[in-house]
Amino acid sequence: MTSIVWLRNDLRIDDNKALYYACKHKKSNIIVLFIEIYKNKKYFSISYYQKIFIYKRLLYLKKKFCTLNIKFLYKKLKSFNESIKYILSICKKYSIKSFFYNIQYELNQFNRDLILSKKLIKNKIKVLNFHDNCLISPNIIKNNSGNTYKIFYFFKKKSLKYLKKKKIICLSKPKKRIKNNIVFKNKEIKFNYKNKLFNEKKFPFKDKLIKKKIFFFFKKKIFLYFKNKDFLYLNSTSECSLYLNLGVISIRRFFYYILKYNKNNYKSSFILLEKLLWRDFFKNLIFSYQNLSGNFSFKLCKKKIKCKKNIFYFKSWKQGLTGFPIIDAGMRQLKKTGWMNNRLRMITSSFLVKNLLIDWRIGAQHFMLYLIDSDISINNGNWKWISSIGTDSVSYVRMFNPYIQSKKFDCNGIFIKKYVKELKNVPIKNIHKPYLWLKKNEPNTKYPKPIIDYFKTKIKFIAKIKKNE
Ligand SMILES: Cc1cc2nc3c(=O)[nH]c(=O)nc-3n(C[C@H](O)[C@H](O)[C@H](O)COP(=O)(O)OP(=O)(O)OC[C@H]3O[C@@H](n4cnc5c(N)ncnc54)[C@H](O)[C@@H]3O)c2cc1C
Repeated sequence: MTSIVWLRNDLRIDDNKALYYACKHKKSNIIVLFIEIYKNKKYFSISYYQKIFIYKRLLYLKKKFCTLNIKFLYKKLKSFNESIKYILSICKKYSIKSFFYNIQYELNQFNRDLILSKKLIKNKIKVLNFHDNCLISPNIIKNNSGNTYKIFYFFKKKSLKYLKKKKIICLSKPKKRIKNNIVFKNKEIKFNYKNKLFNEKKFPFKDKLIKKKIFFFFKKKIFLYFKNKDFLYLNSTSECSLYLNLGVISIRRFFYYILKYNKNNYKSSFILLEKLLWRDFFKNLIFSYQNLSGNFSFKLCKKKIKCKKNIFYFKSWKQGLTGFPIIDAGMRQLKKTGWMNNRLRMITSSFLVKNLLIDWRIGAQHFMLYLIDSDISINNGNWKWISSIGTDSVSYVRMFNPYIQSKKFDCNGIFIKKYVKELKNVPIKNIHKPYLWLKKNEPNTKYPKPIIDYFKTKIKFIAKIKKNE
């Protein structure tokens, strides 16, 4: 008997539900399949940095599967439709009896799987799918009416109650199998991206090094996580979002580490767990209200703000040339490394939407194209939250003042100077508002003066919000 496991955002061997249950049948041949869709719509594209990471991880996994006598099949296709056709053809070719996969919650992926499953079942192939990407499966945490929570606070409360009662179980790695007698020519995974930009030290792709990174965080950093997580020059967060989103590490395993190292770090561990629940929350929402995968939002009609399609503002924002050092440092970091700390993501996104008055979807798309951990549900969820059109919006207008944030979280300008080289000579006391100092001391500088007046745009935005209410 031969089974297929379709890998998607579960690029691991340990505690992988689909792989584990497929391997339970000791004598069956296992083919692990990965399909790359290379002609995705721009909006849903994954970032360049993530692509490089995925390729490296796949090359690594291919070797690992080989040592387990599991065949690995890689295919590059144009569209989801082609992937359905391709899977049906290989199922026929290798007389597949069972097909395993872990569920993806985003609309297009979910619908594709639904169509495929129907066709497989019609061809008498058993389809087995699993909830694997969230800490608590999305069909569990519901309000009293049986619906998904739209407010994080209540979702969190119920999730914590659940976690207190139920044990989260991690599954073991599959053991080496008796020889696999399937023969197929698997073309080499072509690696055609310039990989010199990828920071492998920060984001290793081999299990051993990833474990080392995680243990370093739990042993050395977590006790100060609650205090330090927002300081831009400290790198004090776990930097695990990429691994969780691509399923390189299991979220259950990550939770297990939180519990294990929780003893002396109760406050930090709790905040970290809360962050994982934010992740679950956005995945739950997209699973239950699948329109959220696209541009729909809960409060769009109520608080729609006419956005100025200002190409100059958008270009300045994405290139890090707004004249606001903290914004520019963040946007340059994103472009150069594919990374930005959560605090900075909030500051830069709020600035785009609430000060430059640009549609959140344009910013969200830019983040999707650059963030190494880009993920549709989490990215969209956060952008909507920032724009006050998502779930859990507060009644007051949440805005991040870049001057205050800069003074608070990069007080000496260490982070700013790392990414905005034009400001290297600016004294600390002027670093958050360098324009006047530059004008006087370095008049030939190329660093721009602020493209907007922060306070004027703030007043304008609040007035618009009130008008729309
Ligand atoms: C505008 C905006 C866009 C974002 N886009 C993405 C995205 O595309 N992909 C993504 O994974 N995260 C996104 N985030 C959330 C957050 O910024 C990152 O998850 C976090 O910075 C990752 O760093 P970390 O792993 O060190 O987090 P830690 O602080 O170590 O937190 C641990 C884990 O909790 C989860 N988490 C933390 N904060 C959030 C959050 N606000 N929402 C959901 N989950 C969270 C992540 O999985 C993270 O790895 C976005 C936030 C904002 C404000």
